[in-house]
Amino acid sequence: TELAELLDSRIRDVPDYPKPGVLFKDIAPLLADAEAFGALVRALADRATELGATKVVGLEARGFVLAAPAAFAAGLGFVPIRKKGKLPGEVHAESYDLEYGSATLEVQCDAFAPGEKVLVIDDVLATGGTVAASLELVRRAGGVPVGVLVLMELGFLPGRERLTPHLDGVPLEAL
Ligand code: 5GP
Repeated sequence: TELAELLDSRIRDVPDYPKPGVLFKDIAPLLADAEAFGALVRALADRATELGATKVVGLEARGFVLAAPAAFAAGLGFVPIRKKGKLPGEVHAESYDLEYGSATLEVQCDAFAPGEKVLVIDDVLATGGTVAASLELVRRAGGVPVGVLVLMELGFLPGRERLTPHLDGVPLEAL
């Protein structure tokens, strides 16, 4: 589509970042481009409305940059899912495996009203571990995931397969 072509044209490939052999997708040029950033945020907000979401979750840190303006544009509230140790008060925590070691994400226990319809937004789906943990956190905090939106899905990684059992029918869309 026209939108996908615009977005694609503003994403920069950075070889060997953050370590040798990794091709990093840098979204900074897209964020810096008013037309592309605006079109992306509007598309995310439109999907939030179509999916019937009542809250928008962003995943630290680049997910915040997309999810917060999309929530505002859709007239919805925003909830952060953060790396371990950043949120005050009672939190739910989910750990997941990385290539080396593991990572932990957290959400505040009172983030959602019971049964609230939650849209999860992040920039990139790679192995799927981040989104899988986030879906579990949303459910543990009483929310009902209604969709996962990412700017881009790295099709050469098995992220979608790994995610399927966690999605449990929730649509996963890459713009
Ligand atoms: P996953 O858990 O799916 O393996 O990794 C996804 C997370 O890592 C996302 O939160 C995303 O921000 C980050 N990530 C992984 N690879 C890339 C990349 O090539 N570009 C960007 N911008 N983020 C990435």
